[in-house]
Amino acid sequence: MVIRIAIVGFGKIARDSHVPAIRADPRFQLVAVTSRSGDPDVGVPAFSDLGALLAAMPDGVDAVAICTPPDVRHGIAHQALAAGLAVLLEKPPTATLGEAQDLIALAKAGNRTLYAGWHSQHAPAVQPAAALLAGAEIRRLQITWHEDVRKWHPGQDWVWEAGGFGVFDPGINALSIATAILPERLTVRAAKLQIPAGRQAPIAAELQFAGPAHGASFDWRHGDGECWTIEIETDDGRCIELRNGGARLVVDGQAQPIAGHGEYPSLYSRFAELVAARASLVDIEPLRIVADAFLIGSRTEVAPFLWTTSA
Ligand code: NAP
Repeated sequence: MVIRIAIVGFGKIARDSHVPAIRADPRFQLVAVTSRSGDPDVGVPAFSDLGALLAAMPDGVDAVAICTPPDVRHGIAHQALAAGLAVLLEKPPTATLGEAQDLIALAKAGNRTLYAGWHSQHAPAVQPAAALLAGAEIRRLQITWHEDVRKWHPGQDWVWEAGGFGVFDPGINALSIATAILPERLTVRAAKLQIPAGRQAPIAAELQFAGPAHGASFDWRHGDGECWTIEIETDDGRCIELRNGGARLVVDGQAQPIAGHGEYPSLYSRFAELVAARASLVDIEPLRIVADAFLIGSRTEVAPFLWTTSA
């Protein structure tokens, strides 16, 4: 059975990654999109929102991929599950843990597929790293996720709002990798959040986890390229590094040969399997860590953030 899928919320990631991955997988057919800002011109009918789509094609869609900002995702997912659709949630799956739990319960009660898609968990270094770390004792963990917000979120004001996650929007990608590969649970012991004056969400964050030397540094003020690295030292002296967001694996200084067929193609392949099995997969661990950082983090106000540096 071909899964007739619609994309809800048509921004950067929908255009850059979801449309190509859907079109490359013969198990899916893109049948519609929703956008509040007009027809994005991808060759399928466009509707203003999911309600209008369901009214126009009540038996014409099997699944939705929800690619809006996280704060509105729960309401849209609720509507889709109630209409009997399978649901793929962009990351982070919801704005709160309670919303995620509500959707899990709804999907279970209706026997619907709910998939929280963490694209970084599909990076090619992730499974090999998890295999290398199985059963290991971790001596040191350092996550460094630094990038330029102006490059990766141009003009996206929602990232600065309450529920927008700030620097945790990319940071949660690192956490999704860490929770997938580490043999131990990450517990936040301390957090320092830097919030630009007049904004609600952090531009930088430092996390300290339980463990001898376990930490994370997230920063959106990195003007010169990106640093998306996870370094892990084990008790038996091994050093395992995931670089370039999980695209490269280095063990004891030696680059390892790894292969993958792309984060979003892999994510959609998993979604197709889950739909076929009428199963769900919702990993809330990365969201739990971010929620804990917001719960216990100290806040420091820093310089206001402006999208243009010349202003
Ligand atoms: P974006 O470019 O701002 O697109 C989000 C789209 O959602 C908007 O274009 C808008 O589309 C729709 N939207 C916004 N507010 C809405 C609301 N209140 N109700 C309904 N729809 C609304 O953001 P993005 O970069 O694509 O990110 C979207 C999600 O994907 C985020 O959770 C992000 O973490 C994740 N993601 C982004 C990237 C990336 O590189 N950008 C990578 C991986 C994952 P319409 O105007 O068409 O309605």
